[in-house]
Amino acid sequence: MSTVGQLINGEIFIEGTRQQDVYNPSTGAVTKQVDLASKKTVEEAITVAQAAYPAWRNTPPIKRARIMFKFKALLEEHADTICKMIGEEHGKISHDAAGELQRGIENVEYACGAPELLKGEHSKNVGPNIDSWSEFQPLGVVAGITPFNFPAMVPLWMFPMALVCGNCFILKPSERDPSSTLFIAQLLKEAGLPDGVMNVVNGDKEAVDTLLNDDRIKGVSFVGSTPIAEYIYTTANANGKRCQALGGAKNHAIVMPDADMDNAVNQLVGAAFGSSGERCMALSVAVTVGDAAGDALIEKMQAAMQGLNVGPYSDANNDFGPVITKAHQEKVIGYIDSAEQQGSTIVVDGRNAKVEGYEDGFFVGATLIDNVNTDMTSYKEEIFGPVLQVVRVQTMQEAMDLIDAHEYGNGTCIFTRDGEAARYFSDNIQVGMVGINVPLPVPVAYHSFGGWKRSLFGDLHAYGPDAVRFYTKRKTVTQRWPSAGIREGVEFSMPTMK
Ligand code: NAD
Repeated sequence: MSTVGQLINGEIFIEGTRQQDVYNPSTGAVTKQVDLASKKTVEEAITVAQAAYPAWRNTPPIKRARIMFKFKALLEEHADTICKMIGEEHGKISHDAAGELQRGIENVEYACGAPELLKGEHSKNVGPNIDSWSEFQPLGVVAGITPFNFPAMVPLWMFPMALVCGNCFILKPSERDPSSTLFIAQLLKEAGLPDGVMNVVNGDKEAVDTLLNDDRIKGVSFVGSTPIAEYIYTTANANGKRCQALGGAKNHAIVMPDADMDNAVNQLVGAAFGSSGERCMALSVAVTVGDAAGDALIEKMQAAMQGLNVGPYSDANNDFGPVITKAHQEKVIGYIDSAEQQGSTIVVDGRNAKVEGYEDGFFVGATLIDNVNTDMTSYKEEIFGPVLQVVRVQTMQEAMDLIDAHEYGNGTCIFTRDGEAARYFSDNIQVGMVGINVPLPVPVAYHSFGGWKRSLFGDLHAYGPDAVRFYTKRKTVTQRWPSAGIREGVEFSMPTMK
């Protein structure tokens, strides 16, 4: 059985001290081992990255960007291999894996614009013969810690931008599906990236804590669950590091009485059950306004869900695959049980999903739950499975109030034909990413991604323009070259432009 190792200084290295099983969630079988880096190995990766930093920092942005152009071409050339690796370890069907990879590649395309993005600001004659400019300098060695659910895309949110800004990078991917991430990082060498600029440490808490506590790491980007995001943010901050930590979600869609119900149902099916609901932007709660909208939605959802196919990643006819682990399958089923025990109505029950030939796979069928209320555990917590819960209210304001009261504020959406209602909703809702008849309002690569409330700890969002700011420090230079005519004597007062 092969072992997924560490990428340090351009070479794969297996430490061999501690290892963990990697599963194929479609079959339930262990297919690989992943090496878990010790503190010593992570420190070695940091040392290597720090040594590579001075030369990389001084490499012109256009040359850094050219490596990204080649990297993009290599990602496209190897797309099938990458998607297969994602499928094998995550369970995502090939069409979904291809979508994930494409959204990742779009971040590489954005990073190709580094010379433009790093141009800075210049003001001539801020005083007599005095010029001033702001430039954006890299932080040094920065780290990224990523979740299982997007093993290609989320790392690509981080390191292309960090690298073109002149930083060296240490990535700690999810230990549950590490192969595609490592493969992608290896392509950087072929694209021309100098050894040591990008390193991958596979591992668990020991690796993460080493990154958080080492003074040489200047910034940390994290994406994962909220309890860990909060831990990463507070620890990184206490250690004087810049940090952005994106956490979990509970994304609500308001279904207004005037919505195009067939369209809303189609959108909700994909957004709730796609990728088995293991997306931080999955729509997991539909809030229907008025009894008629609630009844219509339930009736049409039931019909639409009859044709859904859950099965192994290898069959492109499947709509979605298994969840990531046996433990997670049990957790999702536990949430459905709790919703039932707490008084909701299970309309479509995916708890006993059976896939012929894949009896040991971690499958959960698409599940629809009606009459959910805000006191239920399944409503309060993130399920991260193919489960759509319906909460019925009578007014749009009630719907907005309950969204605002939820601890998470990642994404939300409204289905309506009423422009005034949609405008009021997008202006006032306390959520970071808003869709209007768009169920998964994931910003494109040249905007930035991030939630509000306990879905993001930090000030700057991921990728896009915010990433340029996150991965650089502003330095403002004020310059004067005294010439014979303007030499001055000693000045004791604050210079002003009066
Ligand atoms: P997770 O929090 O369990 O793990 C994320 C990373 O943190 C992994 O690399 C893991 O090794 C590390 N980690 C886990 N426990 C740790 C600990 N105790 N100390 C230090 N490091 C630790 O998340 P996951 O299960 O891999 O991913 C799913 C979660 O990620 C969901 O909550 C989902 O909403 C969230 N997510 C959020 C976004 C977003 O943009 N907001 C995007 C994708 C996923």
